[in-house]
Amino acid sequence: MFLERLFVRKCTHPNISPDIENAYCPDCGKLIRNEWFVTRCACCGVKLKTMVKQGKIAPQRHYCSNCGSNEFTIEKLDKISFININFAVLIKHVIENDTIHASTVSLWQEKSIEQPRLLTQSL
Ligand SMILES: [Zn+2]
Ligand SMILES: [Zn+2]
Repeated sequence: MFLERLFVRKCTHPNISPDIENAYCPDCGKLIRNEWFVTRCACCGVKLKTMVKQGKIAPQRHYCSNCGSNEFTIEKLDKISFININFAVLIKHVIENDTIHASTVSLWQEKSIEQPRLLTQSL
């Protein structure tokens, strides 16, 4: 049990293809959402090569090569393109599937209620 939990926490979802928006990780069973982020220079707006530094999205270089500013903004990309792929960083978010689970349960309950009613009608 403990080992299982440890494994889940350690999973980096390596089998989730980066070009898919949402997918279930075949290694841990969690629903994963791929999110791409890119940083831009806050001063001149040029795209900066982005990485994750200590759990935070940040540009790889401290200063903009275009204007020398160290201010930046983080932009979420809707779709990854080949132009952005060299700049963007991929974040794999785990989606807690409580809501999905709940809707499946209610669907199943509706069906089970409907079943005996149909039987009475046919009799
Ligand atoms: Zn995983
Ligand atoms: Zn700049």
